[in-house]
Amino acid sequence: MTKVFIRQATYELPLLGERVAEMFDSMGPQWIKPGARVLIKPNLLLPSAPDKAIVTHPLLVRAVAAYLLDHGAKVQVSDSPGTGSFRKVLTETRYKEVMEGLDVTFSPFEASVEVDIGEPYGRIPIARDAMEADRIINLAKLKTHAQMFLTLGVKNIFGCIVGLRKPEWHMRAGVDRRVFARLLVQIHHAVRPDFTIVDGILAMEGQGPGKSGRPRQLGLLIGGAEAHAVDKTICTVLGLDPEKLLTYVQGRELGVFDGQVHVSGDLNIVSDFRFPELHSLSLGTETLSRFMRKYVVQKPVADDRKCKLCGECWKICPAKAITHNIRGVKFDYDRCIRCYCCIEVCLHAAIHAKEPLLGRVRRYLIRD
Ligand code: SF4
Ligand code: SF4
Repeated sequence: MTKVFIRQATYELPLLGERVAEMFDSMGPQWIKPGARVLIKPNLLLPSAPDKAIVTHPLLVRAVAAYLLDHGAKVQVSDSPGTGSFRKVLTETRYKEVMEGLDVTFSPFEASVEVDIGEPYGRIPIARDAMEADRIINLAKLKTHAQMFLTLGVKNIFGCIVGLRKPEWHMRAGVDRRVFARLLVQIHHAVRPDFTIVDGILAMEGQGPGKSGRPRQLGLLIGGAEAHAVDKTICTVLGLDPEKLLTYVQGRELGVFDGQVHVSGDLNIVSDFRFPELHSLSLGTETLSRFMRKYVVQKPVADDRKCKLCGECWKICPAKAITHNIRGVKFDYDRCIRCYCCIEVCLHAAIHAKEPLLGRVRRYLIRD
């Protein structure tokens, strides 16, 4: 049975240092060997201040890096942001400033190696730095996600797919959330982080994971050697049936996680956490598909008043479903696979997921 720590915490370095040391010390004295190359993989989705709750807080990353350096490791911090240059992301998230004085390398994921993640995808490109590190510390953010419900430890490892290849893999998984969850689980299993800590001190609720979500103070750090167990524990804390987290379901179906967790700490249930509205993506028969996509199933919609025509959404859209004119962006809902990458990368909160009126009526009638 895998152990998961759940601890109260704030963004104060001495306390964070204690929490991190307690978790890592549980792995044994030789867990971090002097000279080991340790990769920290935070959530650095886009350039954004830490108080927006979009990225893993830099003070948590500092506490983890300090622990690793104290144990003689060579520490690298890497991710592949959805938008903005890595340099800009490091500046706006205050990583550079907060980590000053620590002998840490910052490097975006760039080169990939082909890794066999199993059927049906076979060999797919995953960041070389992740595959070649001696240890990987997965520092995820506790956020809602309009497609996958929550983005926690397992999903954070999707960031090891380099740059624009992420939307490409979204595209290959298509509209089916279960298929995408399976892909996430397979990638996570191939990378196999050695420890996962989810930053739930300032979490995100509502229509996350980008700027459409709302920061929510939870004051929690949840960590353990098995990300699936960490994610399951978070579901319990948030009062959510873990069966609703598809990466958890797929992890069990694929046999990479047995569902058994030993929790260390208080499981105080957060009863009023706001989850995203998530509706069926089922498109019915081929004949109905077009109609359903346009008028029934949840879809991304843009607010022209907020749109700055920056181009990030149409650049990242894997389905080439976004066009634009001088007023704003337009979606081709026949093409759109509902991956919500556009919501993730929009720095101006100009896109959100919305269920059309017909969809709401249908859901009311059939209660799905
Ligand atoms: S919707 Fe957002 S990401 Fe797309 S062009 Fe407008 S501001 Fe940029
Ligand atoms: S329009 Fe948005 S949700 Fe649809 S495929 Fe493109 S990025 Fe994904």
